[in-house]
Amino acid sequence: MHHPTIILGAGAAGLMAAAHAGPGTLVLDHAKAAGEKIRISGGGRCNFTNLYAAPENFLSENPHFAKSALARYTQWDFIDLVARHGIAYHEKTLGQLFCDGSAKEIIAMLLAEMEAAGADLRLNAPVAEVAKGPDGFAVILQSGERLTCNRLVVATGGKSIPKMGATGFAYRLADQFGLRVTETRPALVPLTFGPDVLALTKPLAGVALPARVSCNGASFDEALLFTHRGLSGPSILQISSYWHETDSIRVNLLPDRDVLGALKTARAENGRRAIGTALTELLPNRLAAAWAEARGLSGQLANTPDTQLAEIAGGLAGWELTPAGSEGYRTAEVTLGGVATDGLDSRTMESKAVPGLYFIGEAVDVTGWLGGYNFQWAWSSGWACGTAIRTTRDDMGA
Ligand SMILES: Cc1cc2nc3c(=O)[nH]c(=O)nc-3n(C[C@H](O)[C@H](O)[C@H](O)COP(=O)(O)OP(=O)(O)OC[C@H]3O[C@@H](n4cnc5c(N)ncnc54)[C@H](O)[C@@H]3O)c2cc1C
Repeated sequence: MHHPTIILGAGAAGLMAAAHAGPGTLVLDHAKAAGEKIRISGGGRCNFTNLYAAPENFLSENPHFAKSALARYTQWDFIDLVARHGIAYHEKTLGQLFCDGSAKEIIAMLLAEMEAAGADLRLNAPVAEVAKGPDGFAVILQSGERLTCNRLVVATGGKSIPKMGATGFAYRLADQFGLRVTETRPALVPLTFGPDVLALTKPLAGVALPARVSCNGASFDEALLFTHRGLSGPSILQISSYWHETDSIRVNLLPDRDVLGALKTARAENGRRAIGTALTELLPNRLAAAWAEARGLSGQLANTPDTQLAEIAGGLAGWELTPAGSEGYRTAEVTLGGVATDGLDSRTMESKAVPGLYFIGEAVDVTGWLGGYNFQWAWSSGWACGTAIRTTRDDMGA
């Protein structure tokens, strides 16, 4: 069977590209349903974009690469599409847009767009091999069936959540066709810690508070969650993208608060109060008690000189921790790194060395922050690729 375009991967980027690449496009996926990551995203409500999405919210070896696609298909374009399909949505926090109902509405919308554009979808279709021929590509399925196409789009995502079928297939294909792949690492992932930190965090599992977490020049003010395995919550997931083995992270448990001033006021108001009790006015009770115990903070405020209050305030603002590792691809929301952008055209996502071969979505070395940015990259890169293919086909009358 010959198709003008075959897209490997019926995820966010693949479906978006299929909606724009023109009739006769075939989308193949080894899963039994399309858009499985969309379905589970955002706790089942899909954080489908971010009102403030901008190139600064993405990590890549070349921070300029994503600019063109993000500018040509923006969050406002996707919001328009969602609205046209009558999908109700709301802003949860920090510009993050979620469906009011279910993430399945986004999948249904993409499938409807794809079908309206004349593209076909084949599920349960694992790909065994891809080969380049004189006029295009051959895709050989595990069943032995051979399909050919003029253009091949690789939208098979990254390595995160192998239980859902993530394989790193895109990197193998890139390698096969001589495209460079940057170092890949799990990102947007909880960090794990050694026994000294766990002694504090484990009993506090479930406690959450707003915090500022910093590492390697990046800093995020978002919720911090204590867990049985260490620390999680949006601030930790965000910083995990900037953290490398052996780096320490810095946690400010009370950003935007004058902690020293608050402790001095508490001392002036009631000097007989224990330091631990004064901390409960600043931190969640369980954390205040555990923090005071771990740091040996006993005694009354009246007997605590300014220098010691300053030390306590400094400790809360600058808690230095060295993670032992991360939970890895098992729970990582995305893969950092991927197909190197210097091998791709930023307007079309086409390989510079292998005409007709495209890489889009998470497979590419463009990784967004937590908060709807990764889907926006999938929509923008999928749109850039799909419209480029459609335009070339129109020009060639194909
Ligand atoms: C739990 C979780 C929650 C998330 N929540 C959000 C969120 O709310 N907002 C946000 O912006 N991002 C979120 N993300 C990230 C987001 O899901 C990804 O960035 C996005 O799905 C990437 O799109 P993609 O199309 O590149 O890849 P994917 O969506 O992963 O799609 C790849 C497709 O390729 C198929 N495939 C893989 N290998 C093969 C193969 N060898 N042969 C055939 N098919 C193959 C897969 O079955 C899959 O359908 C979340 C991720 C996870 C894991």
